[in-house]
Amino acid sequence: MKRIVVKVGSHIISEKNTISKERVQNLVSFLALLMQKYEVILVSSAAISTGQTKLNIKRDNLTNKQVLAAIGQPLLIQIYNEFLAPFNKIGGQVLLTAKNFDSRRATKLAKNTIEAMLSYKILPIINENDTIDTGEIIFGDNDSLSAYTTHFFEADMLVILSDIDGFYDKNPHEFKNAKLLSKVSKIDAKWLEAEIKTGSEHGTGGIITKLKAAEFLLERGRKMFLTSGFDLCVAKTFLLEGKQIGGTLFS
Ligand code: ADP
Repeated sequence: MKRIVVKVGSHIISEKNTISKERVQNLVSFLALLMQKYEVILVSSAAISTGQTKLNIKRDNLTNKQVLAAIGQPLLIQIYNEFLAPFNKIGGQVLLTAKNFDSRRATKLAKNTIEAMLSYKILPIINENDTIDTGEIIFGDNDSLSAYTTHFFEADMLVILSDIDGFYDKNPHEFKNAKLLSKVSKIDAKWLEAEIKTGSEHGTGGIITKLKAAEFLLERGRKMFLTSGFDLCVAKTFLLEGKQIGGTLFS
């Protein structure tokens, strides 16, 4: 059975300090379908925005973000499990930091846990351990965390469900004539240099971290698919029927 990592950005899950239960439900139904065909690992953002639904403090400094993550992370897992239950599926929380990947031994320990969860058909729900990790090496965005997860836990592909439906030759929110690139085999250095705004308030990554994730995986012979998390049609057709009708495939 092929193994895939699905990364979902915070915009898909939260909206103006509320959780979009409809979108989480759609996502979970999709994940349940995927779990019939693949071993699925989920990397989910949105702990901080979920925390903000309970405690209205600003996310403008590290301590506040950590407090919000502490409140939001368990709630987020609870929401996932609420929607997984009708499918007889269970999600389990895995909080990682860069330290889990900094030696072969550490990576192997983390991988063992993931392998065991997958063998019990549990959905590992990974996030960075934002609450206590103040170390120098933190991922800071789940795009790199999900690329590491894909490579070190030996998945075939990373699927990024984003607020954008693919990678464009220029920022589609700024340029009307931006064209979607449906296949990319090499990351052009000039794409990474471009100073591009994410256009999003809660996203920490933006397109640059997605391109870096793709570059990391391409260099290691793995694939990445970037598509919309709002409308799951493209992701569904690609992963369940093997046809690419949109999105960007980095391979
Ligand atoms: P997520 O929250 O899903 O991780 P982000 O909002 O952080 O995603 O990053 C995606 C955003 O990057 C898009 O919504 C868009 O505003 C911006 N962007 C800038 N340049 C590009 C580009 N060339 N192609 C696609 N998106 C781009």
